[in-house]
Amino acid sequence: MTDRLVLLGSKGGPALRPGGPWPSSSLLEIGRRSIVVDCGLGVTRGLTDAGVSLKALDLIFITHLHSDHVLELGPLIHTAWTAGLGTKVTVFGPPGIGYYWQRFCQAMEFDIEIRIADEGRPDLRDLVSIVEFGEGQVAEERGLKISALRVDHPPVTDCFALRFEQAGQSIVFSSDTAFFPPLADFAEGADVLVHEAMLEEGIERLVAKTGNGARLREHLLASHSFAEEASRIASDAGVKRLVLNHLIPADDPEIGEADWIAAVRKTWAGDLTIARDGLVVELSSAKAAPGEETA
Ligand SMILES: [Zn+2]
Ligand SMILES: [Zn+2]
Repeated sequence: MTDRLVLLGSKGGPALRPGGPWPSSSLLEIGRRSIVVDCGLGVTRGLTDAGVSLKALDLIFITHLHSDHVLELGPLIHTAWTAGLGTKVTVFGPPGIGYYWQRFCQAMEFDIEIRIADEGRPDLRDLVSIVEFGEGQVAEERGLKISALRVDHPPVTDCFALRFEQAGQSIVFSSDTAFFPPLADFAEGADVLVHEAMLEEGIERLVAKTGNGARLREHLLASHSFAEEASRIASDAGVKRLVLNHLIPADDPEIGEADWIAAVRKTWAGDLTIARDGLVVELSSAKAAPGEETA
């Protein structure tokens, strides 16, 4: 298995529009581990499209409890169970993730009980371990080290950037955050930094389209980063490749890859990928797959 990062869902926010991209989820295959980072709507479809057997589901990380990052967590695990999941899945998430999982199982109790009795399946609830984490080292097992940094995503306080390290490779996910300089230290020297990004000229049109204009604009400006800010973090951290992800806006026909690239190039001269659903970034040399590199 070649190490790779697959951006399964690349848009910021939970709303879907015809023909547009899907909310946040990523697959990180590193050192023979399959790691799912965030479970926005579409994660199950994204994983199967990426050729991943759901039976092999292993580690799942949730960065925070906004729905565009967690809505499909339960359905993903439940679907893996019906696909024959036989080994334990560990879900790492912020405080509250255990409550989500417990309530999901309660909501699906009829189906879970009937499949155990009727189809002889193992109890789904015994196949899942939940680990609630905070800032600092999250886990270290079989050469894979994961650490977390609390980022700036008001009003959510438990929102964490994640750093995955394995055999000298390191991949950092910013999660959702306003411009947050400590992230540069956290991401120092990483092979890949996946950072969220907004584009200023698209915000006004997005706000007009969505309805609750002023409040939405306020939230976006207080809680998210502009592309230029993502590239400042990448520069200060000295990462090898910057991946812009969780794009806002993500489905504005007037905004294309060239606009994102132009915004970032003011402050970032290194390798660059603009995310789109299903895009693969090969990790052995932190290069995008042939034909997939954007700039
Ligand atoms: Zn989000
Ligand atoms: Zn969020």
